[in-house]
Amino acid sequence: MGMLTPRSYALNKNKSSNRGLDAMRFRYGNGIEIECGERILIDPKRAIEGIPVLISHAHSDHVPRNVSHVKTDVYASFGTASILRRLYGGHYKILHFNESISIGNFEIYAFPAGHIYGSSGFLINCGKISLFYTGDVNPRGGLTVESPARIPKADILITEATYGLPKFRFPDQEVTRARLSKWVIKEVMNGRSPILSAYLIGKSQEVIATLNRYTNLEVSVSKRIADVSEAYSVFDLRYEVDTHKDAHVTHKAYDNAARVTGWAILSKRECDFPLSAHADFYDLLNVVELSNSSRIYTVYGYAEGFAKILKKMGIEASALSDTWVEL
Ligand SMILES: [Zn+2]
Repeated sequence: MGMLTPRSYALNKNKSSNRGLDAMRFRYGNGIEIECGERILIDPKRAIEGIPVLISHAHSDHVPRNVSHVKTDVYASFGTASILRRLYGGHYKILHFNESISIGNFEIYAFPAGHIYGSSGFLINCGKISLFYTGDVNPRGGLTVESPARIPKADILITEATYGLPKFRFPDQEVTRARLSKWVIKEVMNGRSPILSAYLIGKSQEVIATLNRYTNLEVSVSKRIADVSEAYSVFDLRYEVDTHKDAHVTHKAYDNAARVTGWAILSKRECDFPLSAHADFYDLLNVVELSNSSRIYTVYGYAEGFAKILKKMGIEASALSDTWVEL
């Protein structure tokens, strides 16, 4: 990547008394809280009556606990809403990619994040300031996402940092998919029915799609995976429910199961496959560069470590905390 040049950015620490209508402030408290005249919550732990909510994707750590019965507008992409309805019920306003919506002074655009089906990053404009929140992001995309992540330019970037250390460098997805398929075929040829363990939402569907594409094997899945996979109808996944055919995909952990997760990059087991739904460290650096942002805030995973590394590179960065950042 090219050099990032930090630009000075006026951060006004004590301007709460004379805040204009389009002065923005934000923090990482109840999810990402952003105020600009009014308040919105992104991926809050709990939705609050009357305060609009944006949900970046359907993983449970990004979904408010009370999503099924909250009395406020909840915005999500078509894919995210399809999964959430199936898991929790609830009502959602659909935020389509490449379209903008207005909430009070905010103008909001959703961008595909490439992490799981429906995953979105949000570009939030208010007055002269633009802020982009990546949600969980994967610039490499996958077989069951709308597109690899698209990163717009913004004044401020709030980026995830799940794998924000240099030791996390994922191999090419195609290499991992081929290795995984080869291992499964070998197991079947040896008379075994291999079990693959993967996260319920997103990774299980990637595993099914991989086996569908690279092998002719019949894939069975646990009932819960089948329930979520129904929301993935646009991807035409082929599987049966719990019949233990050639290969079985489950979200439960078994000792003898192959694991499919980015964390497998730290493992030496033959049957651990580092197929990640997240950016690795080097992908994250690309996200930072593409955003062209003058100020970077990090959240999740190695937020502190990643911010420290960015600072060493001369980029203004810090881990986002529950202290308000006032612009
Ligand atoms: Zn996620």
